[in-house]
Amino acid sequence: MRETRRTILKTIGGIAGTGAISGQTNAKQAERLPAMKPEMRWAPADESNYSEAERESDLDIRWFVVHVAQGEAEWTVDWFQNPDANVSAHYVADHRTGDLTQMLAEEDIGWHAGNWPYNQHSLGIEHSGWVNDTVYTDTLYEVSARIVRWAATEFDFPKRVRRSEIAPCDATDGEGGVIGHDQIPNPYDCTEPGGISGHYDPGSLWNWGRYEGFIRRWDIEAGENAVVLSDDAAHHGPDEHAKTMAVSAGTVAIATGNVRVRGDTQWYKLDFGDSHGWVPADDLLYARFDAGSAVETTSDLNVSAEPDGKRLATVSEGTTGTIAGGPVDTVGYRWWNVDYESGEAGWSVDYWLKSD
Ligand SMILES: [Zn+2]
Repeated sequence: MRETRRTILKTIGGIAGTGAISGQTNAKQAERLPAMKPEMRWAPADESNYSEAERESDLDIRWFVVHVAQGEAEWTVDWFQNPDANVSAHYVADHRTGDLTQMLAEEDIGWHAGNWPYNQHSLGIEHSGWVNDTVYTDTLYEVSARIVRWAATEFDFPKRVRRSEIAPCDATDGEGGVIGHDQIPNPYDCTEPGGISGHYDPGSLWNWGRYEGFIRRWDIEAGENAVVLSDDAAHHGPDEHAKTMAVSAGTVAIATGNVRVRGDTQWYKLDFGDSHGWVPADDLLYARFDAGSAVETTSDLNVSAEPDGKRLATVSEGTTGTIAGGPVDTVGYRWWNVDYESGEAGWSVDYWLKSD
């Protein structure tokens, strides 16, 4: 009986996830807070630094390109306003404060990717900071992720980070999604990454797994996983006054598909294995796997004794295994503990593992 009901909720939760609006009385019980554009200051780029257009009446927006600016936010804004720059992006996020500035309308084409078709089909965001030095905060990941969620909803591209490979030669191939500047193909040789000038931002300090955790935290579907961020976040009901449960930070749970909106808070009913409880979206992040997930490596991949620790071995592309623990986020990487069928066991980086 219980299993049947859960199976039904899982099924309809998956379908209901995209369209439900806050406040609706929804028999499917999968309410979501609407994808709102975050508050931004408007500071237009100089008109010689971008191309006026009327997207999406002609060109669709399907990519969201992540940059790190190699400078402070104010310098970046000033540079895009300088007629000598010949570069621009739609948004600038300040890594110190989380403040956002919009510099181009979404319909206009920014000059940021070093590949014209990718410029034509993308939105670009610059995050202040330096590729080899800056430790990005959750505040920054969250504000950036909120833009992604809004834009993906508005322009209908997947809320997915496409991390494991260089983006397609043809910008109109595939579904699109969120990529780094370092994944843009060189326009003259699409096996070479980083656009025409070989840029490698946002670099290895940008934690893509954690960033995707923020991008997807409002849109976790039945059967997908969430990692709880703090102790006492789980409640017996979808209400901050409901009794809390003994669930500790770092616990990974399965979304049941039952989602409620109460005021400004979106609550998920999660399956903790031996119990069920409700956690606000603000207290969890989407996670790609949970313990027991079957995975496969998408490239040769290091196996370390600890997250960010000593390398024990390298397993080859296509090695299968089972998730034994995690995720653990370090500066730059999300790690999972994997038991590989080839015999190795230890911690590997999120984005070169896929569901098997
Ligand atoms: Zn860049």
